[in-house]
Order: sequence, then C-alpha cells, then structure tokens
Amino acid sequence: MDDAGAAGLSDWYISETTGSEPQRLRVVGADGNGFRARLVSVGALAPGAVVAGIHSVGVVGRASYRSVQIAENRHIEDIGVLAYLNHSCAPNVAIDVERMVVTAIRPIAAGDELTFFYPSTEWDMAQPFQCWCGAEGCLGWVEGARHVVRDVLAHHVVAPHIARLAGLKR
Ligand SMILES: [Zn+2]
Repeated sequence: MDDAGAAGLSDWYISETTGSEPQRLRVVGADGNGFRARLVSVGALAPGAVVAGIHSVGVVGRASYRSVQIAENRHIEDIGVLAYLNHSCAPNVAIDVERMVVTAIRPIAAGDELTFFYPSTEWDMAQPFQCWCGAEGCLGWVEGARHVVRDVLAHHVVAPHIARLAGLKR
C-alpha cells in the first residue's frame, strides 16, 4: 500500500520453520514506530506456500488498530512482524486463521511486498483508511468486510468467519 521510497532496510529478519524451507521476510522502511513499513519476501514463493507462522499471545474480544480477527468474537494481538503486512485490494497472501499461518495465494517473486486483503479477516475495522493500492477494483475506503459488496468479497480468499458473516457460499 505504501511506498517508503528511500527509507533503509531494517535489520529485522525472521526465520520461520513451518514450511519445508525456512522463509525469510524483511521489514522495509520502518521508521521507528512501524508506520509506513512494509513486509517483503526475501525469496520467491509459490501459491500455497506457508510464508510465516502466527505466534500471537494475545486474544481479545474486540478489534484494535493492529489486531487480526480470527473468529466472530476473537481478535489476536501481538502479531509480531505480521503487523507490517499491509492491505492490498489485489493481495498475494492470505491469513489462514484455522492453521494460524500466512500462505501465498499468488506467485511471489523475491523482493515483492507481501500484502493481504484486510476484509478477508476483518468484519468491522477499528481504524478504517483510504486505500491507494491502485489495483483494478480497489475498494477505496477500507473498513472491513461488513462494508464490502458480497460479489466483491466472493472473489477473495476470506476466513471462515467472514464467509459466514457475509453469507457467502463456500
Ligand atoms: Zn485498494
């Protein structure tokens, strides 16, 4: 979503062992408070590949700015490096809330930013924002699946609770 331009690379590398190969992710453009940073894949990833495991320790009952919704009334916080996963209306990863992993849903090249479709997990977001992703069919104002036309949602990989809440046939 965001292009941090000349911002430098952070030293934050993580290694995940949930896939057959350790996947390395890199946070680019962190400015101290995490804003405008983005998460980049160091290597190429095939669709279906596990990009990262989710090791959250905090489960709460309502959405916050940095939470990810995993069920109708459950949101996880303290999501670590995944807090840098920006929204795109044409995402290349999805959050699998049942396996608690992030998976590639499109071929990803080395150096690509990893993005997910926030309404794929978020029903009603705590902090809506204007999307400038430039994708065809960009939502514009992003405020959760509750506010997305069902036909649009149906074209995305969405979490089971979103499919249920939106009345999508799966
Ligand atoms: Zn967009």
